[in-house]
Amino acid sequence: MPFPEPATEERLRDEVRELARELIRIDTSNPPGRESIAAEFIAGYLAEAGVEAELAGPDPERMNLIARIEGAGEGPSLMLMAHTDVVPAPDADWTVPPFAGEVRDGRVYGRGAADMKGELASRIVAFAELARSGERPAGDVVLIAESDEERNTADVGMSWLVRERDDIRCDYALNESGGMVLELAGGRRVVTISIGEKQAASLRLRFYGRAGHASVPAGADNVLARAAEAVRRLIAHDAPAELTPPIAAALDGLGAPSGDPAVAIEWASDQHPVLAGMVPAMTRMTITPTGLQTHEPANVIPPFADVICDCRALPGQGLDDVREQLDRALDGIAYELEPLEPLEGGTESPTDTPLYAICEEYVRERLPGAELLPIVSPGFTDSHWVREAHGTVAYGFAPVFSTPLAVYLDGMHGADEAIDVADLAEMTAFNLAAVRSLR
Ligand SMILES: [Zn+2]
Repeated sequence: MPFPEPATEERLRDEVRELARELIRIDTSNPPGRESIAAEFIAGYLAEAGVEAELAGPDPERMNLIARIEGAGEGPSLMLMAHTDVVPAPDADWTVPPFAGEVRDGRVYGRGAADMKGELASRIVAFAELARSGERPAGDVVLIAESDEERNTADVGMSWLVRERDDIRCDYALNESGGMVLELAGGRRVVTISIGEKQAASLRLRFYGRAGHASVPAGADNVLARAAEAVRRLIAHDAPAELTPPIAAALDGLGAPSGDPAVAIEWASDQHPVLAGMVPAMTRMTITPTGLQTHEPANVIPPFADVICDCRALPGQGLDDVREQLDRALDGIAYELEPLEPLEGGTESPTDTPLYAICEEYVRERLPGAELLPIVSPGFTDSHWVREAHGTVAYGFAPVFSTPLAVYLDGMHGADEAIDVADLAEMTAFNLAAVRSLR
């Protein structure tokens, strides 16, 4: 890669590589998670750096880790956060064992290497290094290694922490889902930083027909035909595009044509294959069918069928907007809507902050000519909880300057997940820069 090695000492690079490997070897596949084993391991590691960490949570098997380095004065507090759970690794496509933490050609492999045990390791090493150095940051630095991010259903991780532990409240937070370098069509380089996320909910759409015995199908009104047509229409439907102000400003800064959001989005999509997928998703509601269920034995034509959908709404949208899009997509097919959970998420942080400026400066220094590109994550992250409950300014940012994007993105929740050791070092260097320079 054309980038120089980060200014991280070899000692820290070895440390973060080995720590990432150790964390990958602790299987925290969620479900069931069992993140306490990882939390205890991290606590032991921090103890060697002279930091006493605390384990907290309502489930003894799924504890979160909290550690703090007190600031010298009244400077802003900063949370370094990372989840300890990973998604399972069931697919047969893995060419390396997913929980061995193997290193090949300067790259660490295993479930969580990219999402997000590598990043977790970099935050822990930066935190430990700060503690070992005896330096006092301007404000408190709080390290959180939380459980249950991937499923986010057990209320044992960040949702529990922000509710039960107000003392972890911080002015700023660094979390996952940014830091990718994109070379745009015009030769310009941008580095993503996640400033917000969409709302998410699962929906159940119920369709009715007339039940009958499958041995005499002629007289029945088979609801599966209606449900299948509904699935087809939902997949074909595009909700209208909308730009939130920070995204509009970012696209503007890149030189997108102003005026019609759809034109700006099309322009941005043409700039990079990653943006081609991401920009349309982050600028409109998506309702994606992910399941089709009936509740009868195979010899019964069912009275109703359920289509389960994943719904991602933009910040500010509500259930009425969801209904409106369903009406448009289904165009006359009668349905009953039941949200399986309320729309959750949809928070966004401003970009005119000292932490954003630190990220900006880091990128400019390390990749001359590159600019930050704020994005709204189509997926959910724990940044939402601290934004919503504590008013924290939270960004998803950890530099991925070396790992090829295809390797990085395909591995997340996929097979052969991996990250370059150079990026683990880069992330460590960035986290250290952030804790040392936030004032
Ligand atoms: Zn993650």
